[in-house]
Amino acid sequence: MNGTRVGNRIIGADAPVTVGWENIPKVEGGPVKRFVFTWFQPTMLVALVLFWYYAPNSIATASTAIALGIAFKVLLLGLEWVNPRHDSWRLTWKELATDLFYVGIGYTLVNMIESYIGAGAIIGWVQDSFAWEKFAWFMAMPLLLQAVLISFIFDFGQYWMHRGMHNWYPLWLTHAPHHYITQLNINKGAVGNPIELFLIGLGIGGFFDFMPRAFLLAGTLGLTVSIYQHINVRFNTPRWWRFTFNTTEHHSVHHSQDYEASRSNYSGTWIIIDRMFGTCIDGEAELLGMEGGRPMSIRETMTFPFTEGWKSIKARLGRGEPPPEPAAVPAE
Ligand SMILES: [Zn+2]
Ligand SMILES: [Zn+2]
Repeated sequence: MNGTRVGNRIIGADAPVTVGWENIPKVEGGPVKRFVFTWFQPTMLVALVLFWYYAPNSIATASTAIALGIAFKVLLLGLEWVNPRHDSWRLTWKELATDLFYVGIGYTLVNMIESYIGAGAIIGWVQDSFAWEKFAWFMAMPLLLQAVLISFIFDFGQYWMHRGMHNWYPLWLTHAPHHYITQLNINKGAVGNPIELFLIGLGIGGFFDFMPRAFLLAGTLGLTVSIYQHINVRFNTPRWWRFTFNTTEHHSVHHSQDYEASRSNYSGTWIIIDRMFGTCIDGEAELLGMEGGRPMSIRETMTFPFTEGWKSIKARLGRGEPPPEPAAVPAE
């Protein structure tokens, strides 16, 4: 459906984007299959929140979180195999190996840097200089309400960071490689330039061991929702879920080849933040990427911010012009 009008915006001039939930395909199959793929996401959210709510301190540790996270991802890989949203997004061995390479980078390099100058320093600063007693009223609220508020406030910051990346050229240079992915799979969130992962991960890593239970629950809430941003699974997401939370459908519009459509759905967890600021598009896209879906090599992903940044600085010095806006990234 080319050229659909949404408000005053034309969607799908460059590549088709489906707009409106009623136009998105449903899960095909028997009643059991449809039941599973309708209630999987809410059930996992409730199960993991209950686990972290009741787990004794001896179990509520970083290593438990890492083990659970890996088990959850393996389960989701299985779902991608059983019920893919788009056959064209099916994982090949090469695609999976590349994704796992970026996951490995995320776990080692980024954590290493963060422990030196990022999260470690921030946590130290927070612990030293924060007047925790001023937040006694906050800590007196029900634990789950605290968790929801923390998650919402954190996602609010992440919304503006992400929106900033799409509107300010130096930040865009770090985020652009992530937008060269041409399909969504469960580990694609890790694919991108490490500088971006660092900017987004700033302050998240390493929190587990010191933070109050409310932060742990907030993290669980965020991860069990935002993990579905990049997944190749067809869900019959309940209406209240997709109204409140970000979904793989929303995020596929964000990754679509259509420039206007991609300037939407910036939040990680709470899509209602996009609704608040008028940047939400309910819909989905299958054709993803930049420059008509040109794949980007690992080498280019690592060097892109520097090579592109240098090019635009040279162009500016040469012509006496400002660097191009993100809009100027060619979609050939
Ligand atoms: Zn983006
Ligand atoms: Zn993404």
